[in-house]
Amino acid sequence: MQYDTIIIGAGLSGLAAGIRLAYYDQKVCLLERHTTIGGLNSFYRLRHRDYDVGLHAVTNYAEKGDRSKPLNKLLRQLRLSWDDFALCPQIESSVVFPDCTLRMTNDFELLRSQVADHFPAQADGFNRLVQSIDEFDPFAETGGYQSAREHVRKYLSDPLLENMLFCPILFYSSATPNDLDLRQFVIIFRSILQEGFSRPYEGIRRILRVLVKKFRGEGGELKLRSGVKQILHKNGTAYGVELDSGEILEGQRILSSAGLVETQRLCDQTFVDETESTGDISFVESISSLDCSPADLGHHGTVVFFSNQTDFRYERPPTPVDLRSGIICSPNNYQFDEPLAENKINITALADHGYWLNLDDEDAYRAAKQESCRAIIENAVKIVPDFRDHIVDQDVFTPRTIKKFTGHLNGAVYGSPTKQLAGTTPLDQLYLCGTDQGFLGIIGAMLSGISMANAHCLS
Ligand SMILES: Cc1cc2nc3c(=O)[nH]c(=O)nc-3n(C[C@H](O)[C@H](O)[C@H](O)COP(=O)(O)OP(=O)(O)OC[C@H]3O[C@@H](n4cnc5c(N)ncnc54)[C@H](O)[C@@H]3O)c2cc1C
Repeated sequence: MQYDTIIIGAGLSGLAAGIRLAYYDQKVCLLERHTTIGGLNSFYRLRHRDYDVGLHAVTNYAEKGDRSKPLNKLLRQLRLSWDDFALCPQIESSVVFPDCTLRMTNDFELLRSQVADHFPAQADGFNRLVQSIDEFDPFAETGGYQSAREHVRKYLSDPLLENMLFCPILFYSSATPNDLDLRQFVIIFRSILQEGFSRPYEGIRRILRVLVKKFRGEGGELKLRSGVKQILHKNGTAYGVELDSGEILEGQRILSSAGLVETQRLCDQTFVDETESTGDISFVESISSLDCSPADLGHHGTVVFFSNQTDFRYERPPTPVDLRSGIICSPNNYQFDEPLAENKINITALADHGYWLNLDDEDAYRAAKQESCRAIIENAVKIVPDFRDHIVDQDVFTPRTIKKFTGHLNGAVYGSPTKQLAGTTPLDQLYLCGTDQGFLGIIGAMLSGISMANAHCLS
């Protein structure tokens, strides 16, 4: 079978790329190893309850009709309407550090005034930092890595404020410890602090259902349970794939969302040094179902990013989970017209992938999950109302879960620290999209799929 484009992975980037190409009448095949779509952002039903994996918040919120905003541009590229995702804005989020809390909503002026109130000596510098971010074009920059910390320190001198701004940005995007590339910083600053958070009432199911329906409606072919065992190439040009089943599919070009090192392994080639280019940042997340809404317990926050120490550390921790910081997220705390049927609180913490991936014994793995879950919740209830007596069910995912469902080595949630912004590889007709191309998160992954499809498959 000869396709115009074969896409590896039906996560958000692969689905978006597929829609774009199928819309332009390409014969597209989307291959997914698992039994369901969504990759890092998926959903499942367990003990009669619905669970979302990976959806805390959709970033880049934009009002309907605001044509200049990235979300609305993305929807236009996918030929979708604003109502298709039915996004409801957040209530309020915050960054909580010892002795200081910064509140934020989808109105950036709240954060600006919070900075002025809590850090009056930094207010002017913060405004100039924001201006520098507004003027920076991350897509036009072609140079190498620039430290975001160094850029921010040109404007801010208070390490507490610096760390409070980096905390949500690193947590929601960074494959590198403690700092990130300035381009990435600017993209994420805009998408989470300036534009803000939202969520469909039905969670990630809604977005995935819309995307897959659109893809199929445009004539795209989705093959689940179709893992790619190897990428076939000859004389430096990729021309097809061999599936785990042994079936061969040929295509004029291949777009891979499997990851940089993972894709090079599929080619049996060396594009990059594996030790330097395999990601290290991973998470454990506990999802608690409650017998009442978080609001009934006095918790109205959408996403709370916290650090128990002023010196926020974002890195692979020396312990199974990092109890120094975390994210507390409640899917109930959005401006929905009616309450969600289920009540949930998710707690996310940095995790040592080495510990989790080396637990061979199933009983030991289960016990470790239980203990980490207990510890991260005990830590979180120092910040939000104690919900432990209201837990009716619980699930936990670890770096091992992330590895299993995405194929990312080390369960690296944001993939490789080495991003390939151009999406090219040393093989002709083989391109990367998604996490390791460099745009992250739900909206970022879709933007990546669209831009790589436009750049390499439609010209
Ligand atoms: C705990 C957690 C919370 C998150 N919260 C948010 C959030 O609130 N907001 C947000 O915007 N983002 C969030 N993210 C990040 C977001 O989920 C990801 O950035 C995004 O989903 C990445 O999409 P992707 O298409 O690049 O890759 P992936 O989702 O990794 O998809 C890749 C797909 O390729 C498949 N695949 C891999 N190898 C093969 C192969 N050889 N053959 C066939 N198929 C293969 C995998 O099975 C997978 O389905 C979160 C992630 C996690 C883990």
